Amino acid sequence: MQKIENYIGGELVAAVSGGCLDNFEPATGHVYSLIPDSDAADVENAVAAAKAAFPGWSSTPAEERFTILMRLVSLIERDLDSLALAESIDNGKTLAIAKRLDIPRAASNFRFYATAAMHTANESHDTTGQALNYTLRQPLGVAGCISPWNLPLYLFTWKIAPAIAAGCTVVAKPSEVTPMTAYLFSKLSIEAGLPPGVLNVVHGLGPKVGSAIVGHKDIKAISFTGGTKTGEEIARTAAPMFKKLSLELGGKNPNIIFADCNYEQALAETRRAAFANQGEICLCGSRIFVERPIYEKFKKDFVADVSRLKVGDPLADGTDVGAIVSKQHFDKIMSYIELAKEEGGTILCGGNPLDLAAVKAETRPVGSVSETRQLGGWYIQPTVIEGLSHDCRTNQEEIFGPVATIMPFDTEEEVLGYANSVRYGLSSTIWTENLSRAHRIAADIESGIVWVNCWLLRDLRTPFGGVKESGVGREGGFEALRFFSEEKNVCIRL
Ligand code: NAD
Repeated sequence: MQKIENYIGGELVAAVSGGCLDNFEPATGHVYSLIPDSDAADVENAVAAAKAAFPGWSSTPAEERFTILMRLVSLIERDLDSLALAESIDNGKTLAIAKRLDIPRAASNFRFYATAAMHTANESHDTTGQALNYTLRQPLGVAGCISPWNLPLYLFTWKIAPAIAAGCTVVAKPSEVTPMTAYLFSKLSIEAGLPPGVLNVVHGLGPKVGSAIVGHKDIKAISFTGGTKTGEEIARTAAPMFKKLSLELGGKNPNIIFADCNYEQALAETRRAAFANQGEICLCGSRIFVERPIYEKFKKDFVADVSRLKVGDPLADGTDVGAIVSKQHFDKIMSYIELAKEEGGTILCGGNPLDLAAVKAETRPVGSVSETRQLGGWYIQPTVIEGLSHDCRTNQEEIFGPVATIMPFDTEEEVLGYANSVRYGLSSTIWTENLSRAHRIAADIESGIVWVNCWLLRDLRTPFGGVKESGVGREGGFEALRFFSEEKNVCIRL
């Protein structure tokens, strides 16, 4: 069975303890590889390697950093098919989405920050007649980057690319649920000639490896993406140590559809926003509010559309919805469907797990040979629920699966109240052809990202992040390079 390894000081190594954890293939429910069960000792080694690499890397000219990072881009693109396959097997997402979204975005993350590092400029302030001030932005040292399982390589690289481009060295921890592409990426880093210790990847459990990274005195900043509860724990440890913190946390995003919308576009994108990647995207629009005059028609068309989504083998052509990432997450989602029923909701479609054990699965290529697979993992029918109040638990708590609720509204004020009633504030979507209304709602809605007549249309230059309990700080653009830098003002008397 394949054994994943840590990447420390330029070498691929086992955990110091020698222990391993099981890694499951969600499509089959079977263990298919082993993960190092690392702990504080591995983190200590990784921090030592990152510290040793910092003086050299931070003083490497931007053009040289650019050249190495662009080599990584070429290698990710060269291996797009094999990385996408690995991501699909590891996460349960469809191979199609891994090829179209996850892996290309990992390459874009590196391309974006490799080039950005070539175009940074620092301000100077002329204090007329008295002094000249200029701001130095210096890489802050060793950064800790902790990422989740839903977009594994996409979010892993979204953190490490700006950190490395800014001149920091990194100790990174991918999710223990989806470690495979970070491991493959470690190998690409060696091939690209990234100097040893610039990137260190420690695999293992959050409470063992993640908390050792967060609590390490020599790690100056923590960039974290994951659940709000974990974010709280991280903040409790890191804040008294005066670490810089970027927290990208959970969401419960509203999707508001007005009667004057472009109906066909709103319908198609609402389905995508609710069920893409099995609904396991922090930006998914899981609370759908529809203006009353079109509510019945939209509901009927939406449910018909959603019922046509094909749930099945992530590797098979034509699958729309793959497997749920883990048994634990499957149980959580199913418990929310039960809760919705208890809260008085009506299941309009879906609502049940799917047993695909009898379905013939695609063979899985393993190296140069193929292995027959038996499906039997964790599948849930895309589920639409009606009849719930905006403030019930189903509509207030993050489910993070293929489950959406649909509710009518009458006025702009009313729907804004519903949208803003949750503790989260990551993203929102508004469908209307009325520009004034779009501007009004965009200004008043409590979310860090507002999409008008689109969803998940990303420009990497824009600030990305949430308000309220969806997080602290912004990723994207030059914001991320600044996060990994320390500002210093130099004042020279004239
Ligand atoms: P999680 O919080 O359970 O885990 C995220 C990472 O943190 C993993 O690598 C995990 O091992 C690690 N971790 C766990 N406990 C830790 C601890 N005590 N100290 C340090 N690290 C620890 O989240 P998840 O289940 O992997 O991901 C799903 C969540 O991520 C959802 O809430 C989703 O909304 C959120 N998410 C947010 C964004 C965003 O950009 N805001 C993007 C993707 C996912």
